[in-house]
Amino acid sequence: MGTGRLSVCATPIGNLGDVTLRVLETLAGADAVLAEDTRVTAKLFARHGIATPLEAYHAHNLERRTPALVERIASGAHLALVSDAGTPGVSDPGAHLVEALAAAGLEVEVLPGPSAIITALVASGLPTHAFYFGGFLPRKAGERSRRLADLATLDATLLFYESPRRAASTAAALAEAFPGRRACMARELTKVHEEVVRAPVDDLAADLAGRESLKGEVVLLVGPPARGSRAEVDAHAVRARLGELMEAGASRSAAVRAVAEERGVPRNEVYRIAHVDPPSGEGREGGGRD
Ligand code: SAM
Repeated sequence: MGTGRLSVCATPIGNLGDVTLRVLETLAGADAVLAEDTRVTAKLFARHGIATPLEAYHAHNLERRTPALVERIASGAHLALVSDAGTPGVSDPGAHLVEALAAAGLEVEVLPGPSAIITALVASGLPTHAFYFGGFLPRKAGERSRRLADLATLDATLLFYESPRRAASTAAALAEAFPGRRACMARELTKVHEEVVRAPVDDLAADLAGRESLKGEVVLLVGPPARGSRAEVDAHAVRARLGELMEAGASRSAAVRAVAEERGVPRNEVYRIAHVDPPSGEGREGGGRD
């Protein structure tokens, strides 16, 4: 291809064999490869016999370097981008450059491959019908608790990246926010010391609290709330909202429909809540307009 472009290349999250043929061909054929840490990428290059020039592109120079990189691609250069592990742009440098190139109308291609998110999700054995990736949680306890509280009713498996130093305290925060749920710690995935612990979140927190130290890369996961408990958790809020809508003149079925839609709760759950403990002003056997 004669025109300039950026090839965003996913690289291994541990095992150097986990790289696609297309990524290897692209890295070998590019004019230069932008790397988060050139020493890390040099090992991958050595393993696969690649000699393309490496340039540093990381959190500390990306703002400064991006305009010149956009210029080079606009002038016809083919650059490739890699991070230390996995897919660039996901909790790694990359999104900024992709955004700048997209704004300039230049070509970006993404070559898929390893990512710790998908690898951990599948290894966990937790539901995969929906998942929420929360990146790295805030370090301050208050902020972290608020972030977790916002996720309490989400019908999805939750995934968080974490450093080994903070894994135990984050697991404790997860146990406090989501007691009784299934959970998992996926550590050192694809590496020699790979470890996948699947346990109730309270047990996982106790396990990590009891370890002297933890090494390596960690993903923490928590399963979705048990079926039906989403509505139970929020029963009070559901009742209050039903009351509000019915006071404003909505029929009970219209209010139930609206609340189910607003809160993402199954309609029969909202009916159950309305019936078991109806909103104030309404008798158990009716009173609202249906
Ligand atoms: N862009 C990468 C990706 O697509 O997976 C993620 C980069 S982020 C800076 C690094 C975090 O990813 C680590 O702190 C850890 O949470 C997770 N991670 C990366 N490699 C891992 C591995 N082999 N096992 C478990 N977690 C890993």
